[in-house]
Amino acid sequence: MNAFNFIAEKVWKRVQGWSDRPLSRAGKEVMIKSVAQAIPTYIMSCFQLPDGICEKMRATVSNYWWGFEGGKKKMHWRSWAWMSTPKFLGGMGFRDMKIFNQAMLGRQCWRLITEPDSLCAKVLKGRYYPKSSFLDSGPTKSCSFTWRSLMHGKSLLERGILWRVGNGEDIRITKDKWVPDAPCHPIQPVVQMPDDLKVCSLIDESSRQWNEELVRICFRPADAESILNIPLSQNRVCDHVAWPFTKTGIYTVKSAYNMAKCEAVHLNASAKGKGESSNQVCTAKEWKSLWNINAPPKMKIVLWRFAHDCLPTGQQLRIRQIPAYDLCCYCGIDESTQHAFILCQYVAEIWRELKRKGGFKLMVKMFVSPKQWIFEMLAACTDREATILVIAFWHIWEARNAVRNGENKMHPHCIAEKILAYVDMVLVHWCTPAHPRKSDVLNRKRWEPPPQGWIMVNVDAAIFHKDNRMGLGIVIRDERGVFLAACKQGIDKITDPELAETIAFRRAVNFASQLPHDHIIIASDCESLIKKLQSRVTDRSNIGIIIEDIKKVVCTSTVAFSFIHVNRCCNKAAHVLARSADRLSESVWLHVPPEFLWSTLCNDMTA
Ligand SMILES: [Zn+2]
Repeated sequence: MNAFNFIAEKVWKRVQGWSDRPLSRAGKEVMIKSVAQAIPTYIMSCFQLPDGICEKMRATVSNYWWGFEGGKKKMHWRSWAWMSTPKFLGGMGFRDMKIFNQAMLGRQCWRLITEPDSLCAKVLKGRYYPKSSFLDSGPTKSCSFTWRSLMHGKSLLERGILWRVGNGEDIRITKDKWVPDAPCHPIQPVVQMPDDLKVCSLIDESSRQWNEELVRICFRPADAESILNIPLSQNRVCDHVAWPFTKTGIYTVKSAYNMAKCEAVHLNASAKGKGESSNQVCTAKEWKSLWNINAPPKMKIVLWRFAHDCLPTGQQLRIRQIPAYDLCCYCGIDESTQHAFILCQYVAEIWRELKRKGGFKLMVKMFVSPKQWIFEMLAACTDREATILVIAFWHIWEARNAVRNGENKMHPHCIAEKILAYVDMVLVHWCTPAHPRKSDVLNRKRWEPPPQGWIMVNVDAAIFHKDNRMGLGIVIRDERGVFLAACKQGIDKITDPELAETIAFRRAVNFASQLPHDHIIIASDCESLIKKLQSRVTDRSNIGIIIEDIKKVVCTSTVAFSFIHVNRCCNKAAHVLARSADRLSESVWLHVPPEFLWSTLCNDMTA
């Protein structure tokens, strides 16, 4: 433990250096997050810090945030557990150093899994898991501190990792996590299964499809449905691990930290029986709406403290037994949070003036709790109104504190005027214009035939949400624009747009390879897909397996493929065909296009 003391001291010294600077809470927030909590980052990526060190750093940061008065710590109005909860769950988003440490170590583990050929991975494998995989390794009797630290990171990684099914030969059905959206992991079959039975035993070898009958026998209906929804590789690509909390499927410290912190928040909430987890999704939306308000951060913090009812109003001071004047400084009656911001006659006059001059209407009915009231209010507000609300709250709170500190009371109308002036300033100066969309001017606006010797394959997908299925359309033309072939197909259970585009693309590759041409351009209007196909990195997102499938065809085929991204208006024929593929069947046309496609094909040639 002593070996790491210097880190806690470094953090403490740094924060001490700021103590004489009068910073707002928002200013302190920036200093803590970008400086103090970033100090131990390097050490934490290699070693598991002792709890005592994390606790020291926590105390330093926490005391600084809440402040000192006359050499004494001020009241900490919310627990550290809340302060370190992510903002979208209602916290201040400070780093919980223990969990952050674990997430950093998790990244090292992720590298050992995804870069098994690195020197570091080879050395550790030789020493600690010569005959198994890293995921199956564990601590040994004589292991080093480094290895024990890694095992700590691994325990976080394991909770989040998800296997993507390729050939299914590396994934154990009941031991590994491989079914996305399954309510519990690993999945529980309804029949007895040996521990080492692999996922490939659920796949029909010849058709490369799930053995639906078997899957339905082995699992509960909902689980079976989730399994059957997993798109399978046609070319037996290898299984790989993915991190499902990022779009790319690649582990990031931030996403791992948020996952672990959310788990902790839920655990805490259910332990207290608050049932917070059930409406977590909607509160996350509401907290985001609070932090997204266009207003200075220091003002939003007042609103945040109001929502948590942790501002030192008279009533709160009394509850916490802090000796101070605990009545309203304007009218001398009991000062609840509701009174201080809404009901007090002095404050009500400010709100009336804001209505007269600024057209802002305060919702007065139903005050169950500050949090509920503020969320309902924000839900009904326009962006401008939300800005007024935040700025008004801050000014009301500041005015109240000034009067309590002996300053003269201002006329409520003056405060309203100050608020509206501030609102104007914010709305004029803070509103950055939305970035203009990337110009399409340079892109081609119409279909153009491929260069000599090549054929052009246009492919597109359409989603039919009502029927829970996708349609795909493929149109192939030669260098003169002559129609060669087309295909359309409806496929069940796929409604994710990018996945649909990828499956359509794979079909296009297979379909085009059957034609007697060996120079093939495949054009899609899905830019992200083309980027993924051109990347040399293993794609670990939900479409990763299909991407690998396509890459494998390209590698092993004698045909020269070129994949390009085109503007939607160059892809109309495929689009029309995909939109028409609303049945679960496949149609193929050779040499003669279907009648409903004639006009689109003509337009492509004459536009
Ligand atoms: Zn009052």
